[in-house]
Amino acid sequence: MFERPRGTNDWGPEDMTKRRFVETRFIQLAESFGFREVSTPTFESLELFTTKSGPGIVPQLYTFKDRGGRDLALRPEFTAPILRFYVNELRSLPKPVKVYTTGNVFRYEEPQKGRYREFFQLNAEIIGGDPLPSDAEVLALAIGTMRAIGLKQVKVRIGNIGILRSFLPFGPADQALVLHSLDKRNFEMLESELTRLGRKDLSEPLRKTIALSGDASILDAAAKILGGAGSEGFRYLRDLAGLLKAYGVAESDYAFDMGVVRGLDYYTGMVFEIDSPNLGAEKQVGGGGAYTLAELFGGERVTQTGFALGLDRLVMAAEAEGAFEPARPLDAYVIPIGEGTREKAVEVVTTLRNEGLWADIDLIGRGPSKNLDYANAIGARFAVLLGERELVAGRATVRDMTSGAQREVALVDLVEAIRSP
Ligand code: AMP
Repeated sequence: MFERPRGTNDWGPEDMTKRRFVETRFIQLAESFGFREVSTPTFESLELFTTKSGPGIVPQLYTFKDRGGRDLALRPEFTAPILRFYVNELRSLPKPVKVYTTGNVFRYEEPQKGRYREFFQLNAEIIGGDPLPSDAEVLALAIGTMRAIGLKQVKVRIGNIGILRSFLPFGPADQALVLHSLDKRNFEMLESELTRLGRKDLSEPLRKTIALSGDASILDAAAKILGGAGSEGFRYLRDLAGLLKAYGVAESDYAFDMGVVRGLDYYTGMVFEIDSPNLGAEKQVGGGGAYTLAELFGGERVTQTGFALGLDRLVMAAEAEGAFEPARPLDAYVIPIGEGTREKAVEVVTTLRNEGLWADIDLIGRGPSKNLDYANAIGARFAVLLGERELVAGRATVRDMTSGAQREVALVDLVEAIRSP
C-alpha cells in the first residue's frame, strides 16, 4: 500500500466533472475575449523563480538537481514561465499579446483545507497593451469566469500599489520592505522599518489607509489621509471603475481596497484579490495585477497585467454555493441478451456513439436483471435490451431507467427514441 504524497490529491470522476467544467468555462470565456492558449514546462530553471521573487522563495519551492547538475524547480506559478516564453519567443507577435494557460503548480506549503502542495491554476496575461484598458480587460475576464461558473458571491478587492509607492519616499528595496510588512499586516515590522528609515510618522497614515475598503468614496478618504500623494493612482482607479461598468461588472462585485498590497518591486499599479466568502481561512480564489517582469528577464519595458485563479478553490466555492448543475448522464446502456447478439449490440452502441450520444455496453456478459441494476447504478437514462428474437425483427427494447417504462422500437428509430424520448 502506498500513500499519496502529503499535500496532493486524487480526483475521482465526480470531482473531475466539476473541475473540467470550471476549467472549460474559463477557457471558453478567455477564447471569446481573444486570449490564446499557451503551455510551458512543468519545471524551469530555479533561477527563473529566484530572479522573480528573490532567494526567499526557495523554501517554498520543489527544487532538485537533474543528472546534468542543473538547478531546477517545479513551477510554483505561471507568470514567470509565461514572461520567460514571451521574452525568448513571443516578443515578435503583434501586441498586445493575450495568452492563457491552465495546469498544476507546486508549492512546499503546510497543507490544510484548500491549501495543497500541488494545486491548479487558471492563468491569463496581457503583454504590451495600454495599462488601463488591459487592467480592465483582465479584471472583466477574472470576474466573468466566476460568473460563468455560476458563483454569485464574488468579491473582488482592487487596489493600486502605485498610490502607496508614491507615498513612500524610499528607494525600491526599502519600499519593498515597508510594503511587505503592510501586505502581511505585520505592524511590528512596519514600525521597526519606519524607525530605521527615520519616518515613524508615516506609520499611522499607512495603517489607516490600508484599512480602507469600500466604494469609490474611500478613494477620497484615502487621498485625504495621504495628503496629496498618489493622485494619479486615485484617478486611475476611478477611470477603471468607469470601464468596469462598461463591461457590465456590477458595483457590488468589487470594492476598492487600499489594503491589497504586493511588495515585490515589479508590481507597479493596479492589484487585485478575489475572495469567496464561503471558504473560511483559505478564501482567496484569485489574485493579479499589473507588473513589469519582462525587463527583469532581459526583455524591453512593456506593460503586463494578468491573474491567477485557484481552480481547486473555485470548485470548492461553487460546491459551497450549490452552483454545479447535475453532471450529464450516460444516454444509453446497451445489454446484449443471449448467444449471438454481441456483435449486433456493438453495432448498435457504435451507431449511438457516432450520433453523439453517450452510450456504454455490457462488458461482462451479465444477465439482463444484473445488467439493469448496473445501468441504474451508473445513472444511464435508458437501457437498450437486445434479445435474439427482437434482433431478428430489427427491433430493441428501450427501458426508461427513471420511470421503468419499457417499449419496443425499430432499430432505425433507436437514435431518435433516445435523443428525444
Ligand atoms: P497566488 O499566485 O499566490 O496569487 O495564488 C493565486 C491563487 O491560487 C490563490 O488565490 C488561490 O486561489 C490559489 N492558491 C494559492 N496557493 C494555493 C495552495 N497552496 N493550494 C490551493 N490553491 C492555492
